[in-house]
Amino acid sequence: MLSVPQNSTVAADIAAGLATVRSRIATAVRAAGRSEAQVTLLAASKGQSAERIRAAAGLGLRDFGENYVAEAVPKIQALASSSLTWHFIGRVQANKTALLAQHFDWVHGIDRASVATRLSAQRAVDAPPLNICLQVNVLAEASKAGVSPGELPALLDATRDLPSLRLRGLMCMLPYGADAAEQARGFGALESLFADARRRGIALDTLSMGMSADLECAIAHGATLLRVGTALFGARVE
Ligand SMILES: *Cc1c(COP(=O)(O)O)cnc(C)c1O
Repeated sequence: MLSVPQNSTVAADIAAGLATVRSRIATAVRAAGRSEAQVTLLAASKGQSAERIRAAAGLGLRDFGENYVAEAVPKIQALASSSLTWHFIGRVQANKTALLAQHFDWVHGIDRASVATRLSAQRAVDAPPLNICLQVNVLAEASKAGVSPGELPALLDATRDLPSLRLRGLMCMLPYGADAAEQARGFGALESLFADARRRGIALDTLSMGMSADLECAIAHGATLLRVGTALFGARVE
């Protein structure tokens, strides 16, 4: 545990959110016959100050996800001594890959081989490999990021052996307001693509899916990494 000075007013609401999320996870894991150790909780911290992230870290959270490079880098630098794990979960822009390669531990949401190639080339040779997940557009929405399920095998092959990357898994994000049937269809689709890839001998260990609204369904379909913002930190001011 970190010895951070606890600002009780800052930490109290996050502690309450965390307790609720942990109990939702515990219930869902039990219902799925899985164990809590199989599910990592990533705090989606876009819009949260470095102080609030520090408070969340003081409550035991280690993994944080950011969506905007310009917002994230100063926070990562301010919290450098806390040895947190930083995930980029936003849309990857080709002109931001150098900053991602420099500051982050993970990049979710890779949907083009060219972006992966750039990240690998830009990762410092003395840094640990950058962990990546490939984003799949599981519900075939025209407006959303991600490769189609049919394009996934080629993208897996193009990204599995890049020298400075480590291909860890698959990621998806369902549309806001997806109903129970859409959740099950979307997460079920990613779960079977994950199983297919592993059957082909690709050593994936991460299924990045599930947010505040749908984490139970994601856990039922094998999620190993939940990305939760609102349920931990409260509604975002955007
Ligand atoms: C913001 C965000 C989340 C968290 O969403 P909540 O609904 O606030 O839990 C998860 N994943 C991605 C990619 C996000 O941008």
